[in-house]
Amino acid sequence: MKRIAVLTSGGDAPGMNAAVRAVVRSGHYHGLEVFGVYRGYNGLIQGDFKSLTLGSVGDIIHRGGTILHSARCEEFRTEEGRQKAIQQLHKFQIEGLVVIGGDGSFRGAKKLSASGFPAIGIPGTIDNDIPGTDFTIGFDTAVNTVIECIDRIRDTASSHERTYVVEVMGRDAGDIALWAGVAEGAESILIPEAPYELSEIIERLERSRHRDKKHSIIIVAEGVGSGVEIGEQIKQRTGWETRVTVLGHIQRGGSPTAFDRVLASRMGVKAVELLLAGERDKMVAIKDNEVIGIDFDEAFSQKHQPNLALYDLAKILSI
Ligand code: ATP
Repeated sequence: MKRIAVLTSGGDAPGMNAAVRAVVRSGHYHGLEVFGVYRGYNGLIQGDFKSLTLGSVGDIIHRGGTILHSARCEEFRTEEGRQKAIQQLHKFQIEGLVVIGGDGSFRGAKKLSASGFPAIGIPGTIDNDIPGTDFTIGFDTAVNTVIECIDRIRDTASSHERTYVVEVMGRDAGDIALWAGVAEGAESILIPEAPYELSEIIERLERSRHRDKKHSIIIVAEGVGSGVEIGEQIKQRTGWETRVTVLGHIQRGGSPTAFDRVLASRMGVKAVELLLAGERDKMVAIKDNEVIGIDFDEAFSQKHQPNLALYDLAKILSI
């Protein structure tokens, strides 16, 4: 193998740049030429490739977003689109592709490898919703961004003796809400994976009031429902001043944490090692702090679950 390529696809996540850097640097270390593909699968179809030197990935390890840009690409979902992409890869004499992205991007990568082109996935998404890996690149940064924001909200909640409902990202996975909730000592954490009763949330709030604690934080993953509506229901049932903050896209950007930079570096190096070992159909994962390769099919056959032991722990601590 002499030439490989790397792209970022789906939603951007902090640490994607560190992963690109690791793929490029470790590729060069092993004597490979490494091409960057711009704008995800769009660039793959259009042949938007550029040879990346060691220097071209300098000064990016600490930057959020992705220097390769990211995109969604409907054409890549078609057989015709993927054949165009494979033709471009052959034209540039590229023999293996590293795809940094989420679950959808991996389904695309799996189809490439099923057509005979070696593809390796690196999980990069803030939601931590990819089965088969304990963590995805960007999740730790997103959680840290959320707690930084809630620390500020907490100052106001405490000064004005208010209840705050904070809606965080997580359409299908409650990981961000769960980790941020434990880290913030939230009164209640609402995640899509666990049913909730409004009466239970209110009982918990009332217990806090009896202890003379007049401010509270409730964290809601967006997949559970609208934070605004939940805040309104709490206000109506209790009569307490309740405010709602929807954090939104602020959670996607920012400089990656040390954890995400190290994870991205380890995963980038592993992806290149897998290609060199002749693997053609795997994603990189971290399991029990070991970076491994697992078959796409094995990952797709599992369902992502957040750490529900943390959910139980949060209930104990917010008694
Ligand atoms: P995020 O977790 O941030 O949403 P993602 O990788 O899951 O990231 P998607 O929008 O689902 O984001 O997928 C990114 C791209 O991957 C799509 O625009 C499409 O080009 C390709 N893709 C997704 N699913 C498939 C599929 N089943 N077959 C072929 N290509 C796919």
